[in-house]
Amino acid sequence: MKQLKTLPIIDLIYPRRCPVCHDIVTPNPDNEQICPACRKRLPYVTEPRCMKCGKQLETEEQEYCEDCIRIPKQYVRGYPVFHYESPVRESVAALKYHNRREYADFYADVLWDQFHKEFLKLDLDGVIPVPLHRRKQRSRGYNQAECLAARLSKRLNLPCYTGLLLRTAYTTPQKDLNDKERMNNLKKAFFFRQNEVKLKKILLVDDIYTTGSTIEACTEALHQGGVSDVYYTSICIGKGYI
Ligand SMILES: [Zn+2]
Ligand SMILES: [Zn+2]
Repeated sequence: MKQLKTLPIIDLIYPRRCPVCHDIVTPNPDNEQICPACRKRLPYVTEPRCMKCGKQLETEEQEYCEDCIRIPKQYVRGYPVFHYESPVRESVAALKYHNRREYADFYADVLWDQFHKEFLKLDLDGVIPVPLHRRKQRSRGYNQAECLAARLSKRLNLPCYTGLLLRTAYTTPQKDLNDKERMNNLKKAFFFRQNEVKLKKILLVDDIYTTGSTIEACTEALHQGGVSDVYYTSICIGKGYI
């Protein structure tokens, strides 16, 4: 007998909204979480990419972007999907500040679509979201990176560790600071306590990668805790900020 596709009951009670135009997405058999027209507007990062941070490069001849040459990074490699520009910029702001946490499902699925083959080759021990400070998480009610990491780890069939990497310092917003100030601001802002599994290779998950100072500070804490290889993935990456 032919199997009929049924919609999950949750979609009928809380209709899914498009992460770009915020309109209700008509339930569809392919389970698309975005309108077709909005999907076309997504600013994907394409090849060639920086071998370190994953940012799009101007020419094939370059291996690394200017930022990664200027400030060498300790993590192994990064996998961002989109440029940090419209309409993803506004969409991520809605995910972060306006309680549109269901958009994390859409973005986690995009991360999976784009990179699961590579992730599965990395022989990862687990996924770790970039943590918020306890106080910030309490006022926001959730951590958008954690929502992303939870769904992505499920799809990758890997454990998601949320209580091991902690943000111990309450820092001022990064956007008001220059590179050096960002790094200083974040030094010692994270603490990692290793667990009995003794994680070696992990994938950090965040929403936005700008200068990379947050991922670097997390990497430092993870290295100190005995993790050898740190990779990161994010919804989007800044195009250039020098
Ligand atoms: Zn839309
Ligand atoms: Zn780079």
